[in-house]
Amino acid sequence: MQPQSSLTVKTLVAHERLNEAYGIQAIYGYSDPMHELIGTILSHRTTHANEVTAYRTMRERFPTWEQVRDAPLPDLIDAIQTANYPEVKAPYIQQLLTRLFEERGQANIDFLRDLSTEEAMSWLTSLPGIGLKTSTLLLLFTFHKPVLPVDTHVHRVTQRIGLIGPKVSAEKAHSILLSHLPEDAVVLFNFHKHFYWHGQRVCTWHQPKCSACVLRDICDFYQSGKTTPLSSTPVRRQKPAIS
Ligand code: SF4
Repeated sequence: MQPQSSLTVKTLVAHERLNEAYGIQAIYGYSDPMHELIGTILSHRTTHANEVTAYRTMRERFPTWEQVRDAPLPDLIDAIQTANYPEVKAPYIQQLLTRLFEERGQANIDFLRDLSTEEAMSWLTSLPGIGLKTSTLLLLFTFHKPVLPVDTHVHRVTQRIGLIGPKVSAEKAHSILLSHLPEDAVVLFNFHKHFYWHGQRVCTWHQPKCSACVLRDICDFYQSGKTTPLSSTPVRRQKPAIS
């Protein structure tokens, strides 16, 4: 067995600390893969409550996926208006459904379950408007594939601790963090959830609550004694690229 690098050890220590702080969860998500796929698009830069309202309103007005695909664009935008940037998300949803019907004859992505992680990722990221983050969320939450979604909270917290460098993008962070973690969907789900929650509740963008943080003895930012948070860009209202 190869010796673990110091960064691997630190990543695993941080993971264990947050396991203790937040508790280990079983993987959960929407049971319907199409709901998870479209819900993930709607969820970008939107609260969970607004995502749920947008999805429900869309399905009430357009009960079948064919109706969603063929709806006049302004009507679909109106149906999902509680999700931020509906004018960006509605065309992506229609393009994605068009591709699905053309390729598979139906709006159903259950076949991804039987593909390898690499094949499933490759197919998903070839869809219009679907990038690495959406793909990893869907593959982990719905199909329990061993991938790691890196959202703004996971990115910021792992950067401040020093698990990734200050200039590493979320896309690169995905493969760097994966290289230090077991290829196990439950481990990766908990890593994602715990760092997400920690970023929301403790390691917030403004004024992180370091005195209450269980990671401060291994955190580069805290150990540096700086008072201004390191790097990472706070989320601002700008036209999003769905990823
Ligand atoms: Fe974030 Fe402070 Fe905890 Fe470091 S010690 S992870 S900066 S809250």
